[in-house]
Amino acid sequence: MDPLEFQLDHHSADLGPGKQLAPVRARNMIFRTGKGVKLSSSRRLENIYLVAVGIRPSSMFHPESIEEMLAVHDLARKLGLGMVVRKCGTLVYKVFLFGREKEELAFRIPDLYETMGFKEFIVAQITIANLTGKFLDYPKCCVESFIDHLMHATDQDQEAHDRLILDRNPDPGAFFVERFVPCNIGCMYAIAEGERILGGLRRLEPELAEIYLKLRTEHMEDFRSGRILREKAARDKLLSVPFPEPGWRGEDGN
Ligand SMILES: [Zn+2]
Repeated sequence: MDPLEFQLDHHSADLGPGKQLAPVRARNMIFRTGKGVKLSSSRRLENIYLVAVGIRPSSMFHPESIEEMLAVHDLARKLGLGMVVRKCGTLVYKVFLFGREKEELAFRIPDLYETMGFKEFIVAQITIANLTGKFLDYPKCCVESFIDHLMHATDQDQEAHDRLILDRNPDPGAFFVERFVPCNIGCMYAIAEGERILGGLRRLEPELAEIYLKLRTEHMEDFRSGRILREKAARDKLLSVPFPEPGWRGEDGN
């Protein structure tokens, strides 16, 4: 897809799911050392492979560049995955990948613009957090807790960070995909989802299961080190929403 066409209208990248490939062919296509844009292990394994082989019905990521989105778009098309790109503020994109089961829900995810006004922006964020929680099959307790934070102008990511730095040897089990933040670092539903994904990978591709275990530790580390919080602060700046209350954050990263 042409970058200029995409920038003029990101809806031109909307892609419905098609016929998916057999797991071995999907793996070869996703992990073969490709030319062009470098995609991270998390992108290839968690966002693309897990959906392509049906271990997860859908995934979401915050892209680092337009080139990255277009590289993923190209792969999604070849793999028969659905993909939509939506805006969260004028300058921030989110990418959603999915199979047939989540197609209807995917096309209901709206763009969000900061010009809508503060109150409407919060309401829209809550609506979108609910919608993406359902789309991504996140544990209900974690989505509800995230929304609760949103309504009380507190931050679930900050809370996870604070808890993790107090723990000398925390278990990364609940951090089952990149940027997912559990309602608490010992959430049994989040841990169970991580184990389910791990089991699926072990059955299909044991080497990928080993990579997945390392990624989980990295995801937890992203919260513990404060990297996610710094990125969010930078994104809030991009969103340029006026914050009427101290402590409020314009983010719906769940
Ligand atoms: Zn939970």
